[in-house]
Amino acid sequence: MQETLIRNADHLLTMDDTRRELSGADVLIRDGQIAAIGTGLSTTGEIIEARGCVVTPGLVNTHHHLYQSLTRAVPGGQDALLFGWLQTLYPIWARFGPEEMFVSAQLGLAELALSGCTLSSDHLYLYPNGARLEDTIHAAAELGLRFHPTRGAMSIGESDGGLPPDRLVEREADILNDCIRVVDAFHDPAEGSMCRVGIAPCSPFSVSRELMRDAALLARDKGVMLHTHLAENDEDIAYSLEKFGCRPGQYAEDLGWTGADVWHAHCVKLDGQEIDLFAKTRTGVAHCPCSNCRLGSGIAPVRPMRDAGVKVGLGVDGSASNDAGNLVLEARQAMLLQRVARGADAMSAREALEIATRGGAEVLNRHDCGQIAVGKRGDVAIWDVSGIESAGSWDPAALLLAGPVSVRYLLVEGRQVVRDGRVATIDTQALVTRQTQLVQALMA
Ligand SMILES: [Zn+2]
Repeated sequence: MQETLIRNADHLLTMDDTRRELSGADVLIRDGQIAAIGTGLSTTGEIIEARGCVVTPGLVNTHHHLYQSLTRAVPGGQDALLFGWLQTLYPIWARFGPEEMFVSAQLGLAELALSGCTLSSDHLYLYPNGARLEDTIHAAAELGLRFHPTRGAMSIGESDGGLPPDRLVEREADILNDCIRVVDAFHDPAEGSMCRVGIAPCSPFSVSRELMRDAALLARDKGVMLHTHLAENDEDIAYSLEKFGCRPGQYAEDLGWTGADVWHAHCVKLDGQEIDLFAKTRTGVAHCPCSNCRLGSGIAPVRPMRDAGVKVGLGVDGSASNDAGNLVLEARQAMLLQRVARGADAMSAREALEIATRGGAEVLNRHDCGQIAVGKRGDVAIWDVSGIESAGSWDPAALLLAGPVSVRYLLVEGRQVVRDGRVATIDTQALVTRQTQLVQALMA
């Protein structure tokens, strides 16, 4: 039996069914699961002193392209729109291989961990030079984060009128076979699972209609989730109307891409009917506010989505379209952006934090995560609010208004991934050194 006791937290934001908030509270985690919440709890195991801290559920990241961590702030892409940005970066990504995938995934996940994230999905849609999905799975396992990798894909290259160079696309039969391989090898549906695999063609404009449909059939056959990009910007809507003769929501519905086992990234341009469709079908959304700002895509209608009952989580998106990967700052950005569009009362700090925790867990169908309640997994972020960033705050639990941007401790399944503000499970210095070498080689 392994126990960790988080003791004397100034504030505990549980995000449980009644959104309970406690002062001076303890949380006991036993064998990866929350065993008790209260005061005066004791243990013979490890103790984390949380006086001066706010304790929240671990944050959940619902959209990322971890491999892009090696191509942040590439000069030619810094100020380009989505399609131009992609065309700048494709030739660089075409030179990646297994080691670049491992190192970039570990970097991106370490950055997320420091910003309070305990569960991340990833969308890897290119596999050059022998790269495989498991390069990222091994990176996450070593670091100790809960991981939902998705087997992405592109099949329409330049010679077929697509955007990516031909050498980055795959044959559709090969894509489906590899989806089967990685689901069979790595997907764990059990409660408390540390790895769940999804199926994720890159976007409606980078694969065929047939592959979209086949991917949905395969995912349902295997009982795994489906993920893609949808309705990201005006170009995206125009493309859908011109090529498919319908809006993205209709396209998704026709091909089996709505339902509680589906989540779409961005959805900046969903209209009222599409919002209703997503609410009715329990289709999830990964809201990526920094990426939407960075690429000038627009402001996603998160307020109307939430009001209609759509499941919304947060995503930092790829590290080349953000270019940061800090999830608590992403939550702050989500709050600010709704206020830009709809006024100061459009989203509170607590609601944005709820989207970042419980909301993301709901999108990923992780009903065992995203809240601090007895029986849920021991995924907890501990924020030190005794420092300069929180000084003067009358409500330190309103973390997104004034508070730290990195955690003091992070526990995943009860294990310390961040301890005293540093990653405890891997040698981050060695990782940064290796990353520098790889980036220099890519620049050469
Ligand atoms: Zn994306």
